Amino acid sequence: MRVLDRIEQVRKELESARSDGRRVGLVPTMGALHAGHASLIERSARGCDVTAVTVFVNPLQFGPTEDFARYPRDLAADAAAAEAAGADLVFAPPVDEMYPGGRALPETRVEVGRLGEVLEGAVRPGHFSGVATVVAKLFAVAGPCRAYFGEKDYQQLLVVRQVAADLSFPVEVVACPTVREADGLALSSRNRYLSGDERLAATVLWRALATAAASGERDGGRLRELMARYVSSEPDVELDYAEVADPLTLAPVATVEGEARLLIAARVGTTRLIDNLAVTP
Ligand code: AMP
Repeated sequence: MRVLDRIEQVRKELESARSDGRRVGLVPTMGALHAGHASLIERSARGCDVTAVTVFVNPLQFGPTEDFARYPRDLAADAAAAEAAGADLVFAPPVDEMYPGGRALPETRVEVGRLGEVLEGAVRPGHFSGVATVVAKLFAVAGPCRAYFGEKDYQQLLVVRQVAADLSFPVEVVACPTVREADGLALSSRNRYLSGDERLAATVLWRALATAAASGERDGGRLRELMARYVSSEPDVELDYAEVADPLTLAPVATVEGEARLLIAARVGTTRLIDNLAVTP
C-alpha cells in the first residue's frame, strides 16, 4: 500500500486504475482511524478494485473554539489500519497541498443551503460549508468513483449526497451503518478525549435513541421530550439538541408516519458527541 501526499500523484494513480477498467472506491476521513472507518474501507475493498483512503484534518470545517489543534494525528498508525482493512492507497496531503496560495483557508467555498444550517449547522456555523468544500475537492481529485460515508454523521451524509448531485460529480455516494461499542456508544475519534467516568456517561446518547425508537411513540414532540429527559438524567452530559427529523430533508417531524431519523448532540465534559438512529411507526 502506498502513502501519497500530492494531488497529482493520486489523480494519476486513480486515472490509470480506471483506464485499466478498475473501479475506484474513495473513503474520506480525518484519520485517527477506528473500527468504524475500517468498516467503510472494508466495504469499499469488497465493492471496488482500488480503494483510496484520504486522511486530512480539514481546518475549514472546525470553528475557532473547536478541537482542530488537538485533533489526534498519527499517520503511521492510520496507514497501518487502512492497509489492514484493505486500502490500496492513502492520500494524506499537507494543508498547503489542499489549500494552496499561501492561504491556510481557501477563498472559494461550497455553500450548502438549508441542509447545512439546521441541527449541527446551527450549532457549528460554517461547518458544512467546510465539509462540502473539502469533499468537492476530494471528488475532483479522485474522479469517477464510489465514495463511502458513515451514517454516524447522518447530516454530513445528506450534505455530501447533495453536493454530489448539485455539482454533478461522477460519484456514487454509499451510506454505511454506524459501528458501535458493545454498550452502544458509536465509535468516534473524539471518544479518546473522554475520561473513564465520561466514557460511561457517554452511552446515554445511544440509550436515549434506542429507548425512544423502541417506545412506539409517534408524536414528534413527545419523542424529543423523552430523549431530552433521558439525556438530562446524566449530570455530566449537556444536550445540544434531540430532534426527530425527516430522513431526507431533516425538517422536524410532527408525527412519525414513515421512517424518521432521531438525532442527538450533547457535550460530555468538553467533548461534543453526536449520534442518530432510524425510527419507524
Ligand atoms: P471522520 O474521520 O470522523 O471524519 O469520519 C470519516 C468517515 O467515517 C465519515 O464518513 C464518518 O461518518 C465515518 N464514521 C465515523 N465513525 C463511524 C462509525 N462509528 N461507524 C461508521 N462510520 C463511521
